[in-house]
Amino acid sequence: MIEKACSTCHFITKENVCPKCKTSSLSDDFSGILIVFDPEGSAIAKTMNIKEKGRYALKVR
Ligand SMILES: [Zn+2]
Repeated sequence: MIEKACSTCHFITKENVCPKCKTSSLSDDFSGILIVFDPEGSAIAKTMNIKEKGRYALKVR
C-alpha cells in the first residue's frame, strides 16, 4: 500500500480518508517526513499546528 499525505493537516496515512480531519483530499506527492513524538515540546509541530503524535509530511503538493 502506498502512503499518502493529507493536504489539509499533512498527516501521513494509508487510508483513503484522513483519520484526523476526515477529508479525502490526500496526495501521494509529498516530501519530507516529520515524526512528532512530543507535539507540546516541538517548535516545528507548533508552527505546523500539529497537536497529536504521528508522522506528517513537510510538503504536500
Ligand atoms: Zn488531515
